Amino acid sequence: MADVEAVQIIAESLKQQGVDYVFGIIGIPVIELSMAFQAAGLKYIGMRNEQAACYAAQAIGYLTGKPGVCLVVSGPGLLHVTGGMANAQVNCWPLIVIGGATNQDHEGIGGFQECPQVELSRPYCKYAARPPTAALIPLHVEKAVRYATYGRPGVAYLDFPGNILQSKAPEARIYKALAHPAPPMAYPPHDDVIAAARLLRQAKRPLVIIGKGSAYAHAENTLRHFIENTNLPFLPTPMGKGVVSDTAPQCVSSARTLALQKADVVLLLGARLNWILHFGRSPRYDKDVKFIQVDICPEELHNSVISSVAIQSDIRPFAEQLFEQMNAVNFRFGYEQDWWKQLAVKCKQNKDTVQQMSLNTSTPLNYYAVFHHLRELLPKDTIIVSEGANTMDIGRSMLLNEQPRHRLDAGTFGTMGVGPGFAVAAALFCRDFAPGKRVLCVEGDSAFGFSGMEIETMVRYKLPVTIVIVNNNGIYGGFDKDTFEAIRSEGDLTQITPPSALGVQVRYEEMMKMFGMQGYFCTEIEQLQTAIKAANQLTDRPTIINVAISPSSDRKPQSFNWLTESKL
Ligand code: ADP
Ligand code: MG
Repeated sequence: MADVEAVQIIAESLKQQGVDYVFGIIGIPVIELSMAFQAAGLKYIGMRNEQAACYAAQAIGYLTGKPGVCLVVSGPGLLHVTGGMANAQVNCWPLIVIGGATNQDHEGIGGFQECPQVELSRPYCKYAARPPTAALIPLHVEKAVRYATYGRPGVAYLDFPGNILQSKAPEARIYKALAHPAPPMAYPPHDDVIAAARLLRQAKRPLVIIGKGSAYAHAENTLRHFIENTNLPFLPTPMGKGVVSDTAPQCVSSARTLALQKADVVLLLGARLNWILHFGRSPRYDKDVKFIQVDICPEELHNSVISSVAIQSDIRPFAEQLFEQMNAVNFRFGYEQDWWKQLAVKCKQNKDTVQQMSLNTSTPLNYYAVFHHLRELLPKDTIIVSEGANTMDIGRSMLLNEQPRHRLDAGTFGTMGVGPGFAVAAALFCRDFAPGKRVLCVEGDSAFGFSGMEIETMVRYKLPVTIVIVNNNGIYGGFDKDTFEAIRSEGDLTQITPPSALGVQVRYEEMMKMFGMQGYFCTEIEQLQTAIKAANQLTDRPTIINVAISPSSDRKPQSFNWLTESKL
């Protein structure tokens, strides 16, 4: 029997385990491997920056439930993706990273790009290994995909030294891995569902929090019925947005602070009590609040606070069974309840404040006006990628999601630079699974700088991503031209240029000219409207809309300072 090349074994094993997409940047020693991927029918997307490739691979994993692969070279290549690996692992998204490595003959004597890659990856992985021979590759690929997708999803790393990549194995000797079935469903113990239902029924001020675990679990149909029928107020987390529509009457995002602070029973569905949810502690929550926590990962239960009911379960069967219990007694938390009245007043107050700021279209523009008008012209099912400090925070409340898994942002790890990579993956997802759906990538000017060159990737693969840069000339707050010029006229720039400053009036949209294409620069709402309408027509190319806003535009006043005031 013939010998089979290692690169072919890797590619076919991945295909066999259900992997479809590879994002990467090639070089020695993985060039042949990238070609083997294409030969095996995997879709290979060449990116410009390894981090962005890793972000794209993990976003496709979150969107499809099957891990994408990130392919990189040895040493610096692998080091550049560790940020991406950590981001995926912290977000609980499935991802496979494959790194080339220095030839084993050269290890220890200063081999080309030599680096302890398996050890380096391990803290950001569920599984990290170097398959010892070509024949054993299918075993490790199967295990990597299984670890990435079973239980709490995460990252697997496979390391391939050049000599292994160049080796062959006799066909008869190649390990025969079976394609494993989809992850097993974790069902909730019946008694726990009863206990959860009882606690919720007794609550005076109940609140449901829907996290990105619910989105990943595809629990949208059940949760929509559940919320509609029980009429319980709910709050989505940033990427839990859209599992139940932001436009549902039960959504109390506009009264988030009050809802968290006064709730007496919180049903936590696939969301961790970490910084995003203020650790579940006073003063952001009532000190006597009771949590019903549902998570696929048992180690997560009781983290930060002790839950009254803690259930290891997939969100979908739990939500179905809880719904049955509540429905059996015709439970409905009516608007006549005092809690709903308090929430309604607060929602209205906040919506009125925001409405005023949104309708203020005087120039220079403010964030709220930009997002309000952007939202009006976006198709409702647009996938929204969002990052930046104020840009993401304000965009979260202003840009609504009506469908699940339609929002990708800096996430649990708070990583900046994820936007363009996520947008590449989202646009490929739309092309392959939801033709006609659009991708909007809203970036602060700082965030865009991290991975802006991926615009070339979008042009090369004809991806119709609308990039909107909300440009305030800086990180957090920005600078106007006069201040910036005054600062610059005064001597040693490294001493006097504020660390938060970026160039003023930078014409990012002109990057489209590199490709003979058009971008848009907007200082007024009418220009933004014209640009969005034009961008909405594009089907085979991205565009950049650069919106100059007031450098002093900020969030509306908050009752709590960000990240502070949670007693530990
Ligand atoms: P968010 O950022 O939306 O608050 P987190 O990332 O903090 O969400 O939490 C998501 C949680 O969902 C994780 O603890 C993860 O273990 C859990 N999870 C992931 N998939 C599922 C699933 N299918 N069923 C239940 N829980 C899940
Ligand atoms: Mg900025």
